[in-house]
Amino acid sequence: MLDRQSAAYSLTHRDFRDDEFWRDIPAWKDVSRGDFGSHLWQSKNSIRKLSNVKDVLGDRVSDDLIADIEAAFKIAPMNVRITPYVFSLIDWNNPLIDPLRKQFLPVASQMLPDHPYYLADSLYEDVDSPVPMLTHRYPDKVLFLPLTTCPVYCSYCTRSRIIGGSTESIEKDTYGPNPKNWEPAFEYLRQHPEIEDVVISGGDAYNLTPKYIQLIGDTLLDIPHIRRLRYATKGIAILPQKILTDDAWVDALMSVYKRGRKMGKQVVIHTHFSSPREITQWTRDAMDRLYAEGIIVRTQAVLQDGVNNDADIMIRLTKQLSYINVRPYYVYIHDMVPGCEHLRTTVRDGVEVEKRVRGTTAGFSVPTFVCDAPGGGGKRHISSYEYYDEENGISVWRAPEVKPQELFLYFDPIHRLNPDAQARWQNASGRRALVRACVDQVNPDLSDEQRDKISQRLEGIVR
Ligand SMILES: *Cc1c(COP(=O)(O)O)cnc(C)c1O
Ligand code: SF4
Repeated sequence: MLDRQSAAYSLTHRDFRDDEFWRDIPAWKDVSRGDFGSHLWQSKNSIRKLSNVKDVLGDRVSDDLIADIEAAFKIAPMNVRITPYVFSLIDWNNPLIDPLRKQFLPVASQMLPDHPYYLADSLYEDVDSPVPMLTHRYPDKVLFLPLTTCPVYCSYCTRSRIIGGSTESIEKDTYGPNPKNWEPAFEYLRQHPEIEDVVISGGDAYNLTPKYIQLIGDTLLDIPHIRRLRYATKGIAILPQKILTDDAWVDALMSVYKRGRKMGKQVVIHTHFSSPREITQWTRDAMDRLYAEGIIVRTQAVLQDGVNNDADIMIRLTKQLSYINVRPYYVYIHDMVPGCEHLRTTVRDGVEVEKRVRGTTAGFSVPTFVCDAPGGGGKRHISSYEYYDEENGISVWRAPEVKPQELFLYFDPIHRLNPDAQARWQNASGRRALVRACVDQVNPDLSDEQRDKISQRLEGIVR
């Protein structure tokens, strides 16, 4: 029977928070709407260190929580950087279960040991990279990483190996924008007429100056075979104020967009909302400006445990975003990168959430749920696995037009399996046997050598 009380029928996605919520944070109780609405004030007051957390929250944060955060700083692969906008949207009365706190400010008590088959570069972006800063995996589209800094750092980042600077536990080759270093990528694109589509990611296009937005856009538009550009930024979700107050940046983007339009080429923004809690009246105002200018904004989310692996939340997120003309594009199953085991969910969660989101609103607003196959298979529809051993948390995938000869494996988090299955994962030979059994289900004709190679790749011994 239809449940007309359900999230699908609710109209609350039309409500946009517009109160002065930051005044609940002791250090910001006297900050005016004008200051809070300025992107410069937001950037200057971003939370980067434990001492910032303490200074800003004062007695609203317990010693226990501070100790928990401090312990996470020692082991997490991502640095912390949170805009005051996001920081004050966290429910500081219930920080442990808050979906925004979970995404941007880890606590050690919730972190789990990495999956035995995690890889720092789980998607093989570096393996499929012909020249620095470029990944060319699919026939006609590429991923360009002109910088590796962002206005916020997400615990779930798939590129934690290079994004956001060294942490207490790992060294990274993080880089800022520098046009001299982009030339090999541009030259590769000029030399490859099959490429039509460039994702300008990173890092985050918010951290490109207007001059660099323009330079990258113009250089790519000048390459005759390139037809589509996407500037990737999480900014609209975590710092919508910039769209409203950084005219130079918006103007640079709009000039690339308008030039592209005259040339018959598509220039769009790809952004990144994972929780309806990231959306307020600021978001709506920012989107109203971009929509009036005509540029398309698409969004993607990462499915995270206790954040959004819940159909009601995803339905609300989808409806609220499409209400303000953001087009939901992808929902990713969490990549198998380090430091996020507590945030990963199962392929089953993805299948079930997608099943309920589909049918709740316009088909063109329903995001495609995908698994970006570890080992560089690329994005695959969440229900398109060749085989799924749900008990042991192993799914096997093919990518016929990307890497036709290979099988790809994704693994559900071990803590979500039953105790018997968890025990099977405990030692290396047990794990190999599980993998082998699943691979044999899909292709019983593999040689021993091919089977060994699959395990060696999972173990990071070969690539
Ligand atoms: C995601 C991605 C793209 C773009 O893929 P779409 O499915 O068109 O969004 C291109 N190259 C790489 C390496 C990617 O990971
Ligand atoms: S904004 Fe994107 S690139 Fe930057 S930390 Fe978050 S997920 Fe990673």
